[in-house]
Amino acid sequence: MSAPLQPRLDRAMSSVTIPPPKCMLRPLEVPFRYLFGPGPSNVPPRVLAAGGRGIIGHLHPEMYEIMNDIKKGIQYAFQTQNNMTIAMSGSGHAAMECAVFNTVELGESVLVAVNGIWGERVAEIAERMGANVHIMVKAPGGVFSNGEIEKALAKHKPVLFFLTHGESSAGLAHPVDGIGDLCRKHNTLFLVDTVASLGASPIFMDQQNIDILYTGSQKALNAPPGTAPISFNERACQKMFNRKTKPVSYLFDMAHLSNYWGNDGQPARLYHHTGPVSGFFSLRESLAILAEKGLEESWRHHKEVAGYLWKGLEDMGLKLFIQNKDLRLPSVTTIAIPEGYNWREMLQYIMKHHNMEMTGGLGPSTGMVSHALQVFCLTFRPFNRHSYPE
Ligand code: PMP
Repeated sequence: MSAPLQPRLDRAMSSVTIPPPKCMLRPLEVPFRYLFGPGPSNVPPRVLAAGGRGIIGHLHPEMYEIMNDIKKGIQYAFQTQNNMTIAMSGSGHAAMECAVFNTVELGESVLVAVNGIWGERVAEIAERMGANVHIMVKAPGGVFSNGEIEKALAKHKPVLFFLTHGESSAGLAHPVDGIGDLCRKHNTLFLVDTVASLGASPIFMDQQNIDILYTGSQKALNAPPGTAPISFNERACQKMFNRKTKPVSYLFDMAHLSNYWGNDGQPARLYHHTGPVSGFFSLRESLAILAEKGLEESWRHHKEVAGYLWKGLEDMGLKLFIQNKDLRLPSVTTIAIPEGYNWREMLQYIMKHHNMEMTGGLGPSTGMVSHALQVFCLTFRPFNRHSYPE
């Protein structure tokens, strides 16, 4: 039978030469997955529903109210009173680049602690923008002593020192106490990455004298990926708003972002870029859940669930990659793959048979930790029937 005449005529008269792709004529399909990798994590229905609300304009007064709420939620989560607190339109990398681009100028010295992939990344970001980058290197999961850090600060006199609090590629929660004081003594800004640890492992931005702190939405905060809280204290603002040159990125220029977030004291917020409205709704809701639950309860909950997981894994005869319990990240557990096993095959098996995403190492820990089944505690809730199918 020949095709009906009208569609054939329509096609013959069409001005487009590229037809609609067949895949776009099929409905969207998204499988259910237990997300036990280092992120994104499963998103609770309340946060998903917030992201599904109708769009409003990014410059509407109601949106400013929501952004003000987000700012307060971040201040609570970071334990800071910093006025210069915002959420980046972008993933954790946006916050990494924002921190470096705004506080460092061409040729200035930057010191980076590398004990996994995230230090490597920040070193590359700083190098790309023309900073004079110095690295202190340890094997994945290694811990830098305050003495070692002070020696390097004295030697390289950096304007910025970077440390990862929650090294997700190794499963390490790096101690932070005392480092902020050392940075002050050496006139260096202290930048800390808490993408994988915020909400799971205690951090106190003001008390620990951290000058710049950032995180991501998609880890222990349980929001979709795409927004990244960041905060700068007075010292950091002094440096970044007294630059000789403009930051290399327009999108990440804090002079503009500070106005967009109502932080610069100006009567009007001007158009800079269109923020991810739905992403901000979800982020607000996830910060609301954290505020309702309370930070201390969230830390306690992560520790308890992680302890349960560690015991279960060790009872099975598996070895955890970070041996010192006190240094283990409660949100990301790394397991050394037993000798003779292929970690890729194991992870594929778990995904195929149990719908569970777990991942291998990243960067320097790839193959070496041959390994790393990583679990975000807040997603490790097999009994939450609202989030998980039977
Ligand atoms: N820092 C750490 C510690 C991370 O775990 C991640 C993401 N795995 C990032 C930074 C980068 O975040 P994103 O993928 O959201 O850009």
